[in-house]
Amino acid sequence: MAAAKELRWSLAGKTALVTGGTRGIGLAIVEELAGLGARVHTCSRTAGDLDACRRRWADKGFLADAITASVCDVSSQRDREGLVATVRDLFHGQLHILVNNAGQSLYKAAADTTPGDYARLMATNLDSCFHLTRLAHPLLRRSSDGGGVVVHMSSVAAFVAYPALSAYSTSKGALHPLTRSLAAEWAPHGVRVNCVAPGAIDTGMFSATLRDTGRARRLAEMEMARVPMRRLGSPQEVAALVAFLCMPAASYITGQVICIDGGRTLAAKL
Ligand code: NAP
Repeated sequence: MAAAKELRWSLAGKTALVTGGTRGIGLAIVEELAGLGARVHTCSRTAGDLDACRRRWADKGFLADAITASVCDVSSQRDREGLVATVRDLFHGQLHILVNNAGQSLYKAAADTTPGDYARLMATNLDSCFHLTRLAHPLLRRSSDGGGVVVHMSSVAAFVAYPALSAYSTSKGALHPLTRSLAAEWAPHGVRVNCVAPGAIDTGMFSATLRDTGRARRLAEMEMARVPMRRLGSPQEVAALVAFLCMPAASYITGQVICIDGGRTLAAKL
């Protein structure tokens, strides 16, 4: 019984691909999954950041093959194909966990958003999730013990309306039907698909908006006033939820979008 419980709450022996793992939420997810026993591969566009992370992980005592990393721009189909090929070779054709975390924000009024802005954001936040998940499907399907897991990274901006975030909200909101559709389509293949929607989390992405002198900063301040818990979330708190969804303990959860937002989406009168 004790052994069964240990297995339910462990990622030992699992393999994971986490996109955007050099900063913020992605970095916390990489370290959480590796700390729970998974072998993790991650990526970002910036080789220097990946080198700095390799040094950080060595300092933290992770073995060199516990966390590996490569350069990839998830908005590029060629890079996505290269990333999945890397992971296939690294993990001998099996992948247990895919976390589609990499994403960018865009604070711009809809009227000022150019076709180029829109296309770049959709390619990064939405197309990457669809195509990486599709490319990883054969590897996830092949994962032997208990099936594959996909987690998409949405945002509370897909639930509540923010001025100047229409393109971003759209890119995140589209992940919800994607999550549900893939969950239904791939349940027979033993692949679970879920989605996490964070509120304001204390990362570079959010603190950059607080440093902004304009509309983004005013939005960030208004946001804090609407969070019942009156604080930012931490990347580690999001990582803990993602890790839970990846564990055998969550084996009956699929097709769900779970908010982690200090109560932001409760619509409480504050
Ligand atoms: P962050 O601190 O800016 O980190 C983003 C990570 O993704 C970095 O490693 C970045 O590295 C990588 N990345 C960005 N564009 C990429 C691309 N095209 N290809 C590959 N890697 C890319 O962001 P974060 O705040 O941790 O956000 C992570 C995810 O959570 C995003 O999807 C975001 O939309 C979502 N989210 C964040 C918040 C929040 O308050 N922070 C709230 C809700 C949802 P490079 O730039 O070097 O490529």
